[in-house]
Amino acid sequence: MNKRLGCWLFILCLVVMLYSSSILAAPHQHGKAFMNLVLERNELIVELQVTAYDVVGFEKMPVTESDVSAVEKVIELLNKTKEWLNPVGGLCVQKSSVINNPFEISEDSQKNEQLNHADFKVRVSYTCSDSEKLIGFNLRVQEYFRAINEIELQWIIHDAQGLTIIDRNNHEIRFNYE
Ligand SMILES: [Zn+2]
Repeated sequence: MNKRLGCWLFILCLVVMLYSSSILAAPHQHGKAFMNLVLERNELIVELQVTAYDVVGFEKMPVTESDVSAVEKVIELLNKTKEWLNPVGGLCVQKSSVINNPFEISEDSQKNEQLNHADFKVRVSYTCSDSEKLIGFNLRVQEYFRAINEIELQWIIHDAQGLTIIDRNNHEIRFNYE
């Protein structure tokens, strides 16, 4: 592939990842979670998608008190971003975190009734004042959610991109640059 075409494809991919309308829409697979990480200039966005089955043990609307409290606990943990996700290097400061709770009663309540499979999604954004020095991140998702066997990470950073499979023993993710 010629260099210029490669460059344009890279930019196109970046734009699609940054501005895709829904937050991460990865396949639904029990035991597997998906992450996207994009660094563009000083803006770092990390998205995580986990199945409800893996984190609360069910995917139907919560009914019992213990179901409801299981969901609340997951939301609480996902909100405490630093408990499970910490960028390394780059002086990144968290700006926002948005959680998509599949069980939230929405105006579109029909959707909730018809729930067969459900995913929790989180989108965390950071401003990294020294983004050239971002070398990776520490991740503790699988310490909290033992049912997740692996996390498929797609990343775009510093003109490089890659796909990394994160297993339970891999807490310190580092990007491999050329
Ligand atoms: Zn499912």
